[in-house]
Amino acid sequence: MSELQPVALQRIGPDESGLLISWSDGSQTRHTASALREACPCATCREKKAADAPGQPLQLPVLSMAEARPLGIQGMRPVGNYAYNIAFSDGHDSGIYTFEYLHRQRQPS
Ligand SMILES: [Zn+2]
Repeated sequence: MSELQPVALQRIGPDESGLLISWSDGSQTRHTASALREACPCATCREKKAADAPGQPLQLPVLSMAEARPLGIQGMRPVGNYAYNIAFSDGHDSGIYTFEYLHRQRQPS
């Protein structure tokens, strides 16, 4: 596969919480802040998800002030030339999203 790179980032959606990425191969992918946050690949979130796995004692859901607000993307910073570090409005900013992962989210057309 040739070097796939994002050529443009655009906020989309009524509250601008979505993200449209245009890629060097001419394709586009759409992402929502909540889906990206949910898929956060950082160690903390992976551990949290493992702890939420079925078979664990049920924990009552908690809604923090940050979570109660609509989630948005506060910033995106390139990491090397292969990924973005995305900062979310809930204060979480340790997720590294590779171009390969982001590009895989495109809709089959
Ligand atoms: Zn995370």
